[in-house]
Amino acid sequence: MTQPFLQIQGIRKEYGTVVAVQNVNLDVEKGEFLTFLGPSGSGKSTTLYILAGFDNPTAGDIKLNGATLLSTPSHQRNIGMVFQRYTLFPHLSVGENIAFPLRVRRKPKAEVDAKVRQMLRLVRLEGYEDRKPANMSGGQQQRVALARALAYDPPVLLMDEPLSALDKKLREEIQYEIRRIHQQTGVTILYVTHDQEEALRLSDRIAVFSKGVIDQIGTGPELYANPATRFVAEFIGDSNFLPCEILSSAPGRASISICDTMTVPDVPMHGSASGSKASVMLRPERLFLSKASPDKGVPVTVSDITFLGNNIHVVTRTGKGHELSVRLPFGHEAIAGLSRGDAVWLRFDAEAAHVFGDSR
Ligand code: ADP
Ligand code: MG
Repeated sequence: MTQPFLQIQGIRKEYGTVVAVQNVNLDVEKGEFLTFLGPSGSGKSTTLYILAGFDNPTAGDIKLNGATLLSTPSHQRNIGMVFQRYTLFPHLSVGENIAFPLRVRRKPKAEVDAKVRQMLRLVRLEGYEDRKPANMSGGQQQRVALARALAYDPPVLLMDEPLSALDKKLREEIQYEIRRIHQQTGVTILYVTHDQEEALRLSDRIAVFSKGVIDQIGTGPELYANPATRFVAEFIGDSNFLPCEILSSAPGRASISICDTMTVPDVPMHGSASGSKASVMLRPERLFLSKASPDKGVPVTVSDITFLGNNIHVVTRTGKGHELSVRLPFGHEAIAGLSRGDAVWLRFDAEAAHVFGDSR
């Protein structure tokens, strides 16, 4: 078996009585773009800082090419880092900022100059060498920070919410730049964000953090199609949840009853339920509406219809008041003649449903 490039093994970090992260296990491939995604306070930065060596874990190990990094001080780990706030040296020019990590490593001047030019080209800031950071936009400053972090060819680059101080348009522009730079350099990137769209756009794989643990690791499509926990299902993409009753279950599957009106056999089930009560998750684009009474379905009332260009968003309500969003493609036959207040049937395929028990 080949050696994983970067290994995070059983990491736990306590701050006094606060357990910031626990049981974090992760193998990262060389050249991979892996994102830590999760809400504020879920332990993303803590894990990243332990990798950077700013902090030591309470338990666990991290290994690069099979050797522990914990005994190596931060500045000798050769790991690049870019933070949310621009951390450029304000009194140094752009060129001097990028040259800084090379000067610290006592590289010859000719090599430093060549590298600075190469890095400026990489982040598309040729001609800005003599500017001071204060005279540049936020997006440009983050590109300088990226150039500086990559200047000494670190095998791993860590980025902690590097775009969250920028506005949406600039953020998307730099996301595209980061993707290009990742592809051009082949550097392994560990990236932190709380923005699911950013994570989906950038990453090869995503580790979803919740309350100090990783709930699930996978590609964007894997997490979307097969969320391991209710939290992942809610955090990635849009989702509807309805209470349901478990009629029978086998490992990973369940037959359920919804709203006392619809029985769905053999639905994928995640976690286990302590009793017969559980929740069923349905993605808005996997639901259908029909006016004719079908063999099976949930009776709902249409409470709102919104035209969104390429799709139409229909909000429906069950008899018990549970709201369900339905997204139909523009021109879908079910839309014709549909108006607010209509009583319709909601349908879906069993494979589109996911049951979540109340215990993991
Ligand atoms: P994230 O980056 O996902 O927003 P953090 O890793 O920063 O989350 O924080 C995880 C948890 O650890 C939070 O509850 C936070 O308050 C706590 N924490 C982080 N750093 C410290 C610290 N230096 N001292 C005490 N608690 C901390
Ligand atoms: Mg953070």
